[in-house]
Amino acid sequence: MGSSWRIATIFGIPIRLHWTLGLFILFFIWLAYRESLSANSILLVLGFIISLYACILLHEFGHSLTGKRFGVKTRDIILSPIGGLARLESIPDIPIQEFQIAINGPIVNLIISSLLAIVISICGLPFLPEIIDGVVRIDSSNFLQWLMYMNIGVFLFNLIPAFPMDGGRILRSLLSIKMGRTKATFWASLLGKILAIVFVGFAIFKGYFMLILIGPFIYLMAGQEYKQVQLAELMKTTKLSSIARGIFTKVYLEDSIETFIEKTNNKEESSFLVFDGDDNIKGSMPELFKDEILKNPSSYNYVKDISSMNVMVLASNESIDHAFQTMKENGLAIVGISEEEKIIGVVDRERISKFIFENTKRGIL
Ligand code: ZN
Repeated sequence: MGSSWRIATIFGIPIRLHWTLGLFILFFIWLAYRESLSANSILLVLGFIISLYACILLHEFGHSLTGKRFGVKTRDIILSPIGGLARLESIPDIPIQEFQIAINGPIVNLIISSLLAIVISICGLPFLPEIIDGVVRIDSSNFLQWLMYMNIGVFLFNLIPAFPMDGGRILRSLLSIKMGRTKATFWASLLGKILAIVFVGFAIFKGYFMLILIGPFIYLMAGQEYKQVQLAELMKTTKLSSIARGIFTKVYLEDSIETFIEKTNNKEESSFLVFDGDDNIKGSMPELFKDEILKNPSSYNYVKDISSMNVMVLASNESIDHAFQTMKENGLAIVGISEEEKIIGVVDRERISKFIFENTKRGIL
């Protein structure tokens, strides 16, 4: 996502501003200078942009707080010139839950615009703001109306049934009920790509420079979603036996630190399983601990002085996804792989990263 700047944490969710928002502000300053806007109008436009972003933030909270109800955490919310993004840690497997998470974003904008409509009618303001010479000018008499129309716009735009819009997720969740997530994502992604091409065609035809820029972005984002789902599917269906390292270095509790360094020197392995004298698995030596030994070799005498007792053995017919989740939850850098109660190999973080990297790069995903 590039660098972003954390401005607040609300409901335990970090809110970040993407650096490109800085460019957006510079563009606004240049525009204000070119149009020689008065201090008053600058404040008004700034107030409008901040209000709009507050609405977008509420939209993202619509997603995040619904996710929270289903036990899905939100890593952070990023605000950028093209809108907001609530980065949820996972998508629930139950389609109706994904549907609710996706739809509750746009619903927030629908509620906001309805509330604004009520305020506008109570205040007796006209619903249609005046557009003079085709130029939109925000002033105190049309501020609320424009904010209402922007919310309606955000609501409608997000209902477009294609990735990466919320409508794509809504469509995917509905299709998932019938055809499974991977196929459903394929169709929602394909619609996103077609839409992006139509967008660019329309933009070129009409000469809308901004839309020409947005098209490729939508195209990439739409494809990305399908790639991720395919990778997740592949991780769930590929067995650990296919990525296990069959030949691995055994480290023993009673090994001296010199022996350990000698054994593990110049090896492409970075984390190790630790055994006792009877070849029973007893613990692990994650890469972090090995680095510590190399930094302070004289602080330890034996492997048992520093090795971790945190270790797990998984069956070779379990999926890569299962290992990935287990290792993440238990903070493991390496696991033993067993077949008929015998350790036949190891899987470490590098093996899993390599699998992800190769299958993302290969282009079949
Ligand atoms: Zn949304």
